Amino acid sequence: MRDSRARDITYLRLSVTDLCSLRCRYCMPAEGVPKRDHRDICSVEELVEITRAAVDCGVRKVRLTGGEPLVRRGILDICRGVSAIPGVEELCLTTNGVALPQLAGPLREAGVDRLNVSLDTLRPDRFAYMTRGGRLEDVLRGLEAGAAAGFTGTKLNVVLMKGFNDGEIPAFADLARRYPIEVRFIELMPIGEGKNAEFLSAEAVLAACPGLRPAEGSGVARRYRFPGGRGAVGLIEPMSHRFCGDCDRIRVTADGKLKPCLHSDQELPLRGLRGEALRRAIREGIAAKPEGHRMDQTGRSEAGRNMHQIGG
Ligand code: SAM
Ligand code: SF4
Repeated sequence: MRDSRARDITYLRLSVTDLCSLRCRYCMPAEGVPKRDHRDICSVEELVEITRAAVDCGVRKVRLTGGEPLVRRGILDICRGVSAIPGVEELCLTTNGVALPQLAGPLREAGVDRLNVSLDTLRPDRFAYMTRGGRLEDVLRGLEAGAAAGFTGTKLNVVLMKGFNDGEIPAFADLARRYPIEVRFIELMPIGEGKNAEFLSAEAVLAACPGLRPAEGSGVARRYRFPGGRGAVGLIEPMSHRFCGDCDRIRVTADGKLKPCLHSDQELPLRGLRGEALRRAIREGIAAKPEGHRMDQTGRSEAGRNMHQIGG
């Protein structure tokens, strides 16, 4: 379905939990998040029902996110339910990778097509610092497990932070030379805990890697390759280059609120709705999708929630 600005909305980002196994400084509060009563969070059946209704409204691609989707009880049932919906052409999942050694194979069998794995540093000490106690080794094993389970086209999400990982840009980019993966450098957004780290423009990637050459685009990313390299480098620039005009996505939070735009506090409750009432609410949300964010002028997001409560 097209929104009021003629953007074709085909992509649903579905958050399945706001809990996480890590506590990245730019995403989660230091004290973590209180565990909510499970009745406050959509059940597996509700999530599948909402996705089915979104597909009826034109969605073709679904990404499961969180919090950390792999800590959600019933995650495999959610994957099986969503991937079985006629009209879902691609089911992706964004994860911190920690639980992939146990879950990569089952996720593949449950119908997940592609993985995005988030990793902001290749140094164990920095990883432990930024995630407040995580082990880099777990994510690296997770990446290997994903490849062993047959996942291809895996993307690595790297949030750029000045004074933290800017010196590692060449090492990350080099992974795209050596492996058939896309390394996506993402600009830090001023959402919630995002103030705990310092912004760095994605242009820094091009300055640090003069060998990169422009490649064919993909969605909201500007893409580059090293001549002869096996993978690609993507730049996701919500701050430097607004891509709101090409936005094709809506989001649903784990507590069942439709967010037409990540950076707006506009939310439509979907829980309790069924059938045509649910489809009508989703259509209303799509129709009301804001034109874009104003972070370049205001320096802050109006999301009204932290990233782990929305889903990146
Ligand atoms: N736990 C999973 C993970 O880390 O991949 C999925 C949820 S996480 C919120 C999704 C993505 O959002 C991650 O790549 C994370 O680095 C990114 N993210 C979180 N806070 C952000 C911020 N303030 N600005 C930019 N990206 C952010
Ligand atoms: Fe958890 Fe992902 Fe947020 Fe890190 S970025 S705290 S892994 S939800």
